[in-house]
Amino acid sequence: MENKKERLVAAIENGTVIDHIPAEKTYQVTALLGLDRLTTPVTIGNYYLSKKLGKKGIIKVSDKYFTTEEISRLSVVAPKIVLNIIKGYEVVEKKTVETPDELRGIVKCNNPKCITNNEPMQTVFNVVDKVNGILKCHYCDKEQEMGKVELC
Ligand SMILES: [Zn+2]
Repeated sequence: MENKKERLVAAIENGTVIDHIPAEKTYQVTALLGLDRLTTPVTIGNYYLSKKLGKKGIIKVSDKYFTTEEISRLSVVAPKIVLNIIKGYEVVEKKTVETPDELRGIVKCNNPKCITNNEPMQTVFNVVDKVNGILKCHYCDKEQEMGKVELC
């Protein structure tokens, strides 16, 4: 029976399996990684039971490996996810999300008067406190918490 459960999402030969996604964040992860633009097979599974998370999402992406920059974007929605790098059906590496020093064009500034909300331009945030997840807008200096951001 265990075996059958584990195979709910089919194994992939080469690519990336993104695991331990909080279920309500799964579709934000697909957006942040631009999975809607990929032309390789993508399998999204959601609301699986997880001992650690309650309910979790798993995304399997064939023939695709993500850059450190792409992975770091996930820190704003799902800092505890794990990316399993698959080669020849085996997990050859596990990558965790590292909070970057800077976030460009990923989250919105929550200050309505900020220039980034009034001009067609990219937002830039400096991560001023990685432990508590505090971001500071490069343009207006307004601080906001990583867990409460709105994505661009
Ligand atoms: Zn701002």
